[in-house]
Amino acid sequence: MADRHLMLWRTLGLIVLMLAALATAKARAADCPGNPNALGTSRVLTIDPREFPRIGMVQYTRSLPLEDKEVVLTFDDGPLPPYTNRVLDVLAEHCVNADYFLVGRMARGYPDLTRRTLAEGHTVGTHSDNHLLGFDRAPMDTVKSEIEQGIASVGAVLGKATAAHEFFRIPGFSRRQEVEANLQSRRLMTWSADVVADDWKHINAFEVVRRTIARLSPRVLEELGLLAGIRREAQLVSRHTGIAGDLQVPEEIQPLRRELEVAIYRSVQEALHNIAKHSRASHFYVKLDVASSKVTVLIEDDGVGFSPRTARDRGFGLEGMRERAAALGGSVTVRSGQEKGTRIRLLFPIESARNVNPATLENSLHRVNAA
Ligand SMILES: [Zn+2]
Repeated sequence: MADRHLMLWRTLGLIVLMLAALATAKARAADCPGNPNALGTSRVLTIDPREFPRIGMVQYTRSLPLEDKEVVLTFDDGPLPPYTNRVLDVLAEHCVNADYFLVGRMARGYPDLTRRTLAEGHTVGTHSDNHLLGFDRAPMDTVKSEIEQGIASVGAVLGKATAAHEFFRIPGFSRRQEVEANLQSRRLMTWSADVVADDWKHINAFEVVRRTIARLSPRVLEELGLLAGIRREAQLVSRHTGIAGDLQVPEEIQPLRRELEVAIYRSVQEALHNIAKHSRASHFYVKLDVASSKVTVLIEDDGVGFSPRTARDRGFGLEGMRERAAALGGSVTVRSGQEKGTRIRLLFPIESARNVNPATLENSLHRVNAA
């Protein structure tokens, strides 16, 4: 992983990005030892807290200057074994770096895990000393001491060269202007979030994934909507590759759930990207059908095709497509063979995900993973 940690005249701390299962990440994923399907880290941003005193659209008006498909992962409330260890293992397996906001007392309690987090390339900020839930109403002296002690605790374990002195997340997002002004005066950047994962709501891991993916909707869906978004994507592929494309997409459709739109759009995007990059096709075809109970998407090309093994080894994103579909109770069928072109058919039930029994969901995901 390229360690392009830029040190400016003042230590600014680092924000580390991961690219969510997307094509441009694949080149970097090739650098991830032993994992050709790694998500990878696309780039490292260096941020000046003076320029971005507060970020996160859940509460504030600004976000980080991210490109489409880029995601910054943040974790707070640790370190806490065995969970932090497991999360760190998964991140390492995918060569993904993230931002951590550690609770001072917990950092002191688990110094090795705290050091491991930093040693594995993650950015470490702080999250108060005792996770005081009351930043919005506690006396300012208490709040200030929580902030200072949290930084001192993490700093005592890690030494000075961390973002502990630059990045802060308020426990429970309990904002209050006086506190935010105080943080800013200390040149501490306040991190809210653009998307929350609801992982504190006692839901299972699959539900966390489902909600998160749905909320990470591509900007194009907001700006253009699904149909125009798909048309634009196909036009871009045609223009950049010279591959002729035919679209059979309705002029209008009934409104679909956001998570369904995201899954459809991401899948089409991934499939078209594979066509552009690997297929050497002269023609592709995209068809979208919306019936009352299901959505069918077909993406076809007349290119060189691939074996399942090639797809897996070269990271065609089919796994991600299957996982997204399974999370919505849908399915993906891929037909491809050497010189026989490729045909991907996606099927999504309408109005199912909310009633999906987690056990069914889990089974279908296991099947996907075993495939
Ligand atoms: Zn917290």
